[in-house]
Amino acid sequence: MRTRSSIARSLAAVLGGALALTGCAVTSHQVQPSALGAARPSAELLPLLNEPGPVELETVVSCDWSVGREGLINLDHPTAKSAGLDDGAEPVQIFFHALRHPEKGLFIVDTGVETAMRDAPGKAAMRGIIASAMDMEKMKVHAPLGEWLAKQPQPLSGVFLTHLHPDHITGMADVPAGTPVYTGPGEAKDRAFVNLVVQGNSDRALAGKPPLSEWTYAREDAGLFDGAVDIFGDGSVWALWLPGHTPGTTAYLVRTPRGPVLLAGDISHTRWGWEHDVEPGSFNNDGDRATVSFKKLRAFAQAHPEVEVRLGHQH
Ligand SMILES: [Zn+2]
Repeated sequence: MRTRSSIARSLAAVLGGALALTGCAVTSHQVQPSALGAARPSAELLPLLNEPGPVELETVVSCDWSVGREGLINLDHPTAKSAGLDDGAEPVQIFFHALRHPEKGLFIVDTGVETAMRDAPGKAAMRGIIASAMDMEKMKVHAPLGEWLAKQPQPLSGVFLTHLHPDHITGMADVPAGTPVYTGPGEAKDRAFVNLVVQGNSDRALAGKPPLSEWTYAREDAGLFDGAVDIFGDGSVWALWLPGHTPGTTAYLVRTPRGPVLLAGDISHTRWGWEHDVEPGSFNNDGDRATVSFKKLRAFAQAHPEVEVRLGHQH
């Protein structure tokens, strides 16, 4: 996306200062505590990392896209400076991840992009000013969510979101009405100026879904993460609270027959940032807290090399 700040810049000229001060929520969709999952100390997942899990995981590249590098990587970081990184366009992808649990069914993490994004962009839930501010016309759609879902033998039982930024719910309109959607706490209430143009789009994407179910984390002050939820009660899939990018930013740890996989979401959008220990750039809601979460997740991954890491927007 051409960044939240550039969306804000182009709109600041049009909209009044008072509105800019208050902003609005990313969606007006209703919110409820999740009935699925229970808080569990994050340390309890450690002994499970070496045991094969039951969940088959498939990561699908829904589209190729490109985004300004300054949002994705902190270009002021000394390592980024000495590498000579500039604010050019960084090639990225939008994914969704399919989780097949033998008893609980098919779930996805994040949503890829909607079929209409390829076939009729003017009719997509994300359209108009937000679509042009995010350069959505640059998206090269490979596997729209709706088309993919139509080929699956089983129905979709739920959507787990890493966070509620527009590029993570670009496929939400293809999620069948009535499908439960889960997210971290505080995502839908977070107010920002940019949401004045985002909210209508998010509301369209979420139309027909039940109230957003928020993971009920028990805050851990000295834990591996700020909190953890054992989603199915069998230790197979964990929601890990890593706030900062947004208040409820959540990574997912999935235990597959071939070992554990960490779906990191936008804790790190890029491969370069993750490998060089450089946190994301301007896209964060709370940059300091996002950096703390980035360091926590990297420390976890380094201590447990058996965990395969899949980043927010690059393989
Ligand atoms: Zn994001």
